[in-house]
Amino acid sequence: MTLGVPDSAGVDPDVVSRTLVVPYNDLDAVEGVFSTYRDRIAAVIVEPVAANMGVVAPERGFLEGLRALATAHQTLVIFDEVITGFRLGLGGAQARYGIAPDLTVLGKVIGGGLPIGAFGGRAELMRLVAPEGPVYQAGTLAGHPLAMAAGEAMVTHLSPALYRRLERTAGRLARGLRAAADDAGATVSVVRVGSLLTVFFRDRPPHSLAEAETVDRDRFGRFHTALTARGVLIPPSPFEAWFISAAHAGSDVDDTVAAACAAFAAVAESTD
Ligand SMILES: *Cc1c(COP(=O)(O)O)cnc(C)c1O
Repeated sequence: MTLGVPDSAGVDPDVVSRTLVVPYNDLDAVEGVFSTYRDRIAAVIVEPVAANMGVVAPERGFLEGLRALATAHQTLVIFDEVITGFRLGLGGAQARYGIAPDLTVLGKVIGGGLPIGAFGGRAELMRLVAPEGPVYQAGTLAGHPLAMAAGEAMVTHLSPALYRRLERTAGRLARGLRAAADDAGATVSVVRVGSLLTVFFRDRPPHSLAEAETVDRDRFGRFHTALTARGVLIPPSPFEAWFISAAHAGSDVDDTVAAACAAFAAVAESTD
C-alpha cells in the first residue's frame, strides 16, 4: 500500500482467482458475493478492526452482519487478530465487539517480541488438525521454546488494569493530536480504537480502503519528516497504525503532542 503496488510478483494468478476481495465495512458487497458463489465460499477472513490501511473501525453491524451471513451460508468466519489480539484487551476484538468467529489467527503481541504465529477455534474444527485429524500443520520453528517462553512471560503481564491504562494513555494522545491539528488549522482525522491510532490527512475517518487511499500522502510525508526532526518516530507510512505500549508514560504523550503541534504548523506553512 505504501508504495502503491497492488500485488506481489510471483503469486500464481490461479491462486488469486480463488480469493474474492470485498470492501471493508460493505455488507452489501459481501452479500453480493455470497449470492453469486453460494456454497462455494469456504470462509470469510477479516481484520475485525482494520489496522493495515491505517486504523479503520468496523461500522456498527458490520461484524454482526458478517457473522450472520456466514452462519446462514454454513461458512466459517476467520478473524485475523494478529494485531488486535491481546491489544484491544485480553479477549481481542472479538470480546470487545461480542462476536465469536469460528477461527482466530494470532501473532505479534503473543510473541513478546519474538517470532510467533498461532491459530485456534472451535473444538470441532481444531480436531481436524493432526494428530487427531487430517490437516497437517507444522514448521521447523513451530512451538519454539524461546518464543513460547517470551509469549508466556508477555501474557502474564497483561491485566484489565493494564488495558485501562493503555486506553487512558491512548485517549490522551488522540485528544492531544486532535487539539494540535485544530490549533494549526491542519485537516486531519484522528482515529483511535483502544491503543491503535492513525492520523489520516483527510477531513473524515475512512470507512474503507478506497477512502483511506484518498489521504494526502504529501502532507503525511512532511508531517512524518517534521516529527522525526523533533525526535518522535511514527510509522513511515500513512497506512500503518501507531501503537501505544505499556512503556509509554503520560510524559511521552505530552512530548509527542508538543512535537505534533510544531509539525502540523510546519506542514501548514510549507503549503503556502
Ligand atoms: C503482521 C500481520 C500478519 C502477518 O503475520 P506474520 O506472523 O508475520 O505472518 C497477518 N495479519 C495481520 C493483520 C498483520 O498485521
